[in-house]
Amino acid sequence: MLYQKYRPQKFNDLVGQDYIKEILLNAVRLHKISHAYLFSGPRGTGKTTTARLLAKALNCLSPKSDGEPCNKCLNCEAIKIGKHMDLIEIDAASNTGIDDIRELRSKIMLATSQGRYKVYIIDEVHMLSKAAFNGLLKTLEEPPANVIFILATTEPYDVPETILSRCQRFDFKPLDVTELTHLVSKVARQEKIKIDKEVAQLIAIYSQGSSRDALSFLEQINSLRKPITLEKAKRVLGVIDFGSLVHIFDALIAKDKLVFELIKTELAKGYSVSNLINGLLKYLEDLIFIKNVGVPVSPTTKELVAKIKKQSDQISNADLTRIFNLLIEARYLARDLDPENLPLEITILKYIGKEPNLNNLEQERPDSSHSAQAEKIVLEEKKEKSKITSTIKQDFDENDLEKNVKLDKKISNFKINEADFDENWQKVIVELKKFNHSIATFLNKANARFHKGKILVEVPFGLYQKILTQPKNNQKIHKVVHSIFHKPLGLEIYLKDSKGAEAIKKAFGI
Ligand SMILES: [Zn+2]
Repeated sequence: MLYQKYRPQKFNDLVGQDYIKEILLNAVRLHKISHAYLFSGPRGTGKTTTARLLAKALNCLSPKSDGEPCNKCLNCEAIKIGKHMDLIEIDAASNTGIDDIRELRSKIMLATSQGRYKVYIIDEVHMLSKAAFNGLLKTLEEPPANVIFILATTEPYDVPETILSRCQRFDFKPLDVTELTHLVSKVARQEKIKIDKEVAQLIAIYSQGSSRDALSFLEQINSLRKPITLEKAKRVLGVIDFGSLVHIFDALIAKDKLVFELIKTELAKGYSVSNLINGLLKYLEDLIFIKNVGVPVSPTTKELVAKIKKQSDQISNADLTRIFNLLIEARYLARDLDPENLPLEITILKYIGKEPNLNNLEQERPDSSHSAQAEKIVLEEKKEKSKITSTIKQDFDENDLEKNVKLDKKISNFKINEADFDENWQKVIVELKKFNHSIATFLNKANARFHKGKILVEVPFGLYQKILTQPKNNQKIHKVVHSIFHKPLGLEIYLKDSKGAEAIKKAFGI
């Protein structure tokens, strides 16, 4: 594996994360080490590598004057091959239980065996159970002098505040295209893999900030028959064919339902939803550039530029912006949802004017440049919209909704202070995670407050609201709220900055 082979052995070899490198090297040099660190950030950005480098630098027998490890002494060698007694790596994804943390606590009472510091790296720390977190917290509250914890996570918002507050936190950023292109070119040179700069760049773009992905793509591409061309690399990386993107945008601009078929066809070819969304976004960038600047962003043929130019004349900048916002929202939502293609489909529905969200207050704004034909389309859409709305209405069990409304009305003048509310609300989220991970994630990303017997939940996206207010989910939330707060509380889930939010604020005088 190239990623393992080229894992940096000193801080200066790390790609990106410059300020993190600098702070940690200074800390080592000045012996100002925290007991606990939290490394958060997307996968492949160097969290575990940095954690191991820190362990190595701290235990090196003859460190360099700048704080870097020597990479020659016994401790450096042992850490390099993963055989150091005082570097303990725990994967929280497979050790979530209290027993593992108990064992860990008994172990850390022991003195170090080989080095000066005992370093625990807990990977994917957000996966620990509540009991395990409590165990960890007790350890962090009274850490033995020579023990350092490095907690790594891709989901920092799933780590309890009590743990976060005891850690020095570093946020690892996704690597940029220049950094990744440089890394890919360097490793390719060392491995004698012949690739053009365009291929290295393509890999960099499609790795989405992850050095691990970049090197694994390079490995995949290297398995192709030589010479490696840009075309071959595109196929391996799941870069959507330009011709397909032209068709999809033709349909999208015409607000033609055919777009659903085209999307389905691409997914059936084996492309992932994120491949597709990224392809659409890149194409959109070219559309915006050709419309406003006259040239595409990425190099392409004259024929394609002419096609895009024609499309760009048929769509307004406002609509392009709208498609962009919807695609970004879909990409964000697709990560947490199953089925992952649903957000993309909803995005298209929203754009072509068949929004299924009953609470959507966005106004249809037909482009003024549209002719009589466009008016016809709008009329048809309106008809279609009412059809879809009634189907959706049937999907909701209205009795369930009524029950919730009645429940809301029963609320007494129950008082609750802010700190208690926050603590209990966190418990609600943790409990709901067992039932449905997406719901817990959505609630975690929302702003929740307690006001006059009601929990007000402000969500950032319409789709969150739609899913959280589905009868099955809504009832579950009510149930969990009841059990945690020992009272049936009202629950209002509203869209951030929506007119609904205004109405609620007005009604409650807040
Ligand atoms: Zn050393």
